[in-house]
Formats: sequence, structure tokens, C-alpha cells
Amino acid sequence: MANIETHILEVLEGLELDVLTTNTVVVGTGSAGFCAATRLVEFGQDDVVIVTDKTKAGTSRNAGSDKQTYYKLTLAGSEPDSVREMASTLFAGGAMDGDNALAEAALSARTFLHLCDIGVPFPRNEYGEFVGYKTDHDPRQRATSVGPYTSRSMVEALEKKAQEQGIPVISECRVVDLIVDDDKVIGLLVLRRDRDWDAAHPPLLLIRCTNVVYATGGPAMLYANSVFPHGQWGASGAGYRAGVVGKNVTEWQFGLASLRPRWNVSGTYMQVVPRFISTEPDGSDPREFLLDAIPDRGRLASLIFLKGYQWPFDIRKARDGSSVIDLLVYRETQLRGRRVYLDFMYNIADEPFDPDQLEPEARTYLERAGALQNSPIERLIHMNRPAYDFYLEKGPRVDLATELLEVDVCAQHNNGGFAVDSWWRSNLEGFFPVGEAAGSHGVYRPGGSALNSGQVGATRAAEYIAKRRAQAPSEDSASFVNAARGPVGEALGLVNAAAVNAAEGVELTSLDLLQQLAELMSADAGPVRSATSIDQASVTIGQWLADLPRIVSADPDSRRLVDRLFLLRDALTTAFVYTSAMSDFVHKDAGSRGSVLYSDPAGAFPVEGDLDQVVSAADDSELFRFRLSGTDLDSTTQEVRLAGSGESPEVEISWRDVRPIPADDDFFENVWRRYRETGGVS
Ligand SMILES: Cc1cc2nc3c(=O)[nH]c(=O)nc-3n(C[C@H](O)[C@H](O)[C@H](O)COP(=O)(O)OP(=O)(O)OC[C@H]3O[C@@H](n4cnc5c(N)ncnc54)[C@H](O)[C@@H]3O)c2cc1C
Repeated sequence: MANIETHILEVLEGLELDVLTTNTVVVGTGSAGFCAATRLVEFGQDDVVIVTDKTKAGTSRNAGSDKQTYYKLTLAGSEPDSVREMASTLFAGGAMDGDNALAEAALSARTFLHLCDIGVPFPRNEYGEFVGYKTDHDPRQRATSVGPYTSRSMVEALEKKAQEQGIPVISECRVVDLIVDDDKVIGLLVLRRDRDWDAAHPPLLLIRCTNVVYATGGPAMLYANSVFPHGQWGASGAGYRAGVVGKNVTEWQFGLASLRPRWNVSGTYMQVVPRFISTEPDGSDPREFLLDAIPDRGRLASLIFLKGYQWPFDIRKARDGSSVIDLLVYRETQLRGRRVYLDFMYNIADEPFDPDQLEPEARTYLERAGALQNSPIERLIHMNRPAYDFYLEKGPRVDLATELLEVDVCAQHNNGGFAVDSWWRSNLEGFFPVGEAAGSHGVYRPGGSALNSGQVGATRAAEYIAKRRAQAPSEDSASFVNAARGPVGEALGLVNAAAVNAAEGVELTSLDLLQQLAELMSADAGPVRSATSIDQASVTIGQWLADLPRIVSADPDSRRLVDRLFLLRDALTTAFVYTSAMSDFVHKDAGSRGSVLYSDPAGAFPVEGDLDQVVSAADDSELFRFRLSGTDLDSTTQEVRLAGSGESPEVEISWRDVRPIPADDDFFENVWRRYRETGGVS
């Protein structure tokens, strides 16, 4: 079992810091982090410590939707499925590496059943079949769900197991930097956020280790319009600062979500066809703005209905499909500065509900569900009472029967992240990004595959570490101190500079700049991106990053401002890498794909006909012209790496062919022999 007693090392002259030594540090207490830690112990490596900024934070524990989905291999019924077929589905998302797809399919059943065995109540029939349903980008019925809180249920079961295994969790630790020696990770520097800053005894902890499993989740702090839960930040910047390569970082999922509380308004919330209202910021001038663009009420109702199970904004459905709704909401909030609300009290145009106006798919569904009541709220309560209750209970409380619900197009998931191989190893030896921090997905992914990927990546990394990297960290303290000196010195320098700025009256605090960054990203690098907006954002962010020690203040007596200072540096680093990647992408002139509209003045408007006229009459029309990308880029992936530092950050960008799905030429006797020789880890 890991020993969490620390010893002291003099890192800079006269500066001693606590050092904890362990074989593996897992960062993050989400579904991926707890999975990695528990698997490490199961596989025989019990010298593992978990650190996290807040044990109860993170996306897995605090996010969900009306039916949060887990994607797995078919384990029920008579329809055929196979590991190779599931790998092909994942790979078909485009820009995905085939060995990741194959591993995610091959370990799908194993990791899913592991969750079942430790108590996650995935539904099964009386014979034990895990009956599934079809999710987006899914040719089978591979999806399953525990309900709105599938990922929370996973975290709680995994956390319980970690407690039973006696794995220590050190909370209130903010990632500051990785400690790297010769392209190898040898440790981690964290800020103890529960302690006051004292320049002579700074609340910094060094962890000396052989492996870091990085389960810090997605870089949620990048976007102001976000449905990531409050308290999820991410720590990707530390990885980029250490030279870890990122992949597909341009690829995000955006979709309609309520702002207070943050929650996806997918599924039943859309299938009951609420009306959409926009107002001026002060609540004046309420208008049903969607009708301006889509006056045909039946068509509008059908498009809203479809948003229920076509939740993410998908550029392929933005020409004349349900994603037009996302674009019109985006235009209202981001370009016109208005606020948008869902109104469940009234039908579109306050008219009686007429199912005959609906297109057949929507009408049949509502008829079968017996949901033909007159108002959206009656239909919601009839079809999914828990979805109505959710807003009464979650906080801030909203009674959908009497109140409007504010929504926007929000960032929900980063498909890209750190590049990993089939063992979830990064280019930095000993550094294993897993879960959303890893960039294992392509442009599109089946709903629910993020949770599968997190379990698979964590299991693969744990298996590799247990079998190949079980050695204790090097005992060479001089080398460790040598490698730690730079990150520690920079951390002290940053706090010192921000403290001097605060004393000199600089008003821009770390908190303010973090907010400005998120607003800039949502305005210029969200679901709609133009070459001009992206280039400008990238330049601005690069300048903020270079100037950081001079422009921002943080009173060192404020734990919050010091904590935010490190978050800010992390966020600026990540945002600079990401916007540089977006800028490279947009100048490839490849068209739009995934969950992003890249404006193209030579392209077409979203919808021919009525919307074309309405949009083209507006000042902001040019932004909405776009061209769909072809499939050329699907077989390639964009990689990014931060080069340069301090005042001259730079991002190196390259494209390579994706790795294909490994050939299916395994003959049992050969596999068995190799397994006996290598334990399955080659
Ligand atoms: C609204 C919503 C709905 C979703 N629905 C689905 C779905 O239906 N199906 C699906 O597959 N996926 C879904 N996802 C995505 C999925 O939930 C996440 O990808 C997944 O939970 C991420 O798990 P993780 O363990 O990698 O990270 P997280 O669960 O986010 O955990 C990250 C951990 O790292 C810690 N941490 C973060 N930053 C720092 C830092 N700077 N320093 C120290 N510690 C830090 C956090 O406190 C946390 O413990 C949804 C996401 C959202 C937001």
C-alpha cells in the first residue's frame, strides 16, 4: 500500500518542499481516475496515490442528461455484433486512430462488466441480457443507461472500491506542472489549495513517481458557455507545457443546454416541443425568433422534436436539419446579444397543439407515447416526470410549469486531447492521459463512447504500468531536484509577480482574466468560427500568455486568487494551443465538420428558401455561410505541440495519417504463445 508520508528536499536555495514518493500518481477522481487506481491495485501495483483538486468535483460525478448513455458491445438479443464491427463504428467517426478504436471495442465488454460487478445498476432482463438502445452514430443498439446519472453511479461504485482497497486520496491539490527529465515524467508539482500562501514556505507539494495517470477530464475552463459542471477545470496546460503532444483538439461537441442549472436539454425536453423565446438582456421585447426563420409551424415543431435525439450540434444537419435550431439560438445570443429561453407553458405561436402538423416521425412517436396533451409541460410530465422534477430539485430551482428556462449553445465535450497509443501512453515516457484528457476520439463519436473510452484507457494504462513499469522512482535526488527546480521557480515567480502587481494597484485579477478568456473563446472559437475570429483570438491569447506576469494581479493572501492564477496559466496555455490548431485548420480551407461551422464567404446559407432570405438580410449573415468538408481529412489527424515558452510561445502543428485498425490475422496458438511470453503487453 502506498505510503503517503512525505520527506523534505531543498529544491531552491533555502527553500524546502514536501516530497511524496510513489510508483504511480493518478490525478483526478472522476470515472477514469478511480478506474485506473482500482485496476492498478487489482493488477498488483498497490503503490498508488490519487490526487485531485476536489474529490467531489469533475464531470463524471456532476453531469448527466435525461438519459445519460454508456456505449458498449452488444450483449443482448439476436442481432450480430463483433469487436471488429464496433471498432469500425468508432473508427468511422473520422480522424481516429484504429488501434485506439480496436482496444476500445475489445475491452468494451470487460470494462462494462467490471462496472456491473462492482454495483453499477445497468438494466438487464430476467435472463441477464443487457438490452440496449440505439444512440447517435450507432448502427446497432449498443447503448445503455442507468438514468440521468450514469457516470455518477460509476464514480460512486469505483470510489467505494478504491476505499475498500485502501487507496489514499489527497484532495485540494491543484496541478501546477509536470516534472520532466529527458522526455520522461518523473513527478508532479501541485498547489495545496487548502493552505495559505507563504513565500518562505509555499504550499507546494512535489510528488516523485515512475508514472502519472492523468485523468483530469476535459479543459472545461475554456468556454464561458458551457455545460461542464462548475468545479471542473482541467489541467491540460501542464501537459502541453511539458511537451506532451495533443491530437484532434479542434474537435468539440456543442449543444443546447440550460445555463442555471447547467444541464443538457436533450431527449424529452425537446421531444415535447417547447417554444423558444428570446428577449433583450433586461427581459424586454420577448419574441418567438425561430418563427422569423422557419414560419412553417409544423416544420419548426418537427425540427425541435428531432433535437431530442440529435442533441449535439452537427454541421451535417445544419443545412436543413435539426441543427438549424442551434445556429439560430447561437445567432440570437452570441451575435445579437439577446437571451434565449425555453417555454414549456405554451405551444409554438401559442396555438393549440396539432399533431397533424408534425412530420410522421415526430407524430408517430408522440402518439405511441400517448403524449398528445395540449401544452408542452403536460406532455413532459406525462412522458418523463423525473425530467420535470429535475429542475425543481437541482438548484437553482426552476418550475417549468410556471417559469422560463434560459438556454444557450454550450460546450459539452472535447473529443480531442493528448495523443495516446493503444496502451494510452503519450509521447512523454511514464505519462498516461486517460478519460476525457486523452484525445482518443475522432470527429464524430457514438453517444456514450466517452464513458467507455475512459474505462478502457484507464484499464489499459493500469495493465501496462503493472506489467512494465512497476519499478520505484529513481533514488537519484539530485536529478529530481534539478528537474523540479524550473517548475518550482516559475511557480514562485508567477505568484510573486502577481503579488507585486496587486500591490501596485493592477486591477485585472486572475479571476477576471480567466473570465475574459472564456468569453473570448465562446464568442470566437465556439461552434461558429471564422478565419478572422480564430486568428484574432489566437493572437490575443498568445499575447496574454506571454505577458501574464506583467498584466495580472493576485493578492497572495487570497487562496482563491492564487489558485486561479495557476488555473489561468493552464487555461491560457491550453487555449493558445487550441486556437493555434483551429487557425491551422481553418486555413486548410477544408470546409466544416463535426460540431463546428467554419464560415466560408463562398459557401451557402444553412437553409435554402425562407431562412436564406432572413439570414441574408441580417448584418451577421456572412458568418453563417459554410461548405461541408469532404472525407479527405478523415484519414488524417492533426497533432499539436507547444514549443517555445515564456514570452515567445509557439505551437508546432503537423498532420499525419491515422493508424489503421490493426489487421485481423491472429491465430490462437500464436496469440497464446505471445501471451505466455509477454503477459499480453508487448
Ligand atoms: C452534460 C454532460 C453530459 C454528458 N453525457 C454523456 C453521455 O451521455 N455519455 C458519455 O459517454 N459521455 C457523456 N459526457 C461526457 C463524460 O461525462 C465525460 O467525458 C467523462 O465523465 C469524463 O470523465 P473523466 O474521469 O475523464 O473526467 P472527470 O469526471 O471530469 O474528472 C476529472 C477529475 O480531475 C480533477 N481535476 C480537474 N482539473 C484539475 C486540476 N487542474 N487539478 C487537479 N485536479 C483536477 C477533477 O476534480 C476530477 O476529479 C457528458 C458530459 C457532460 C458535461
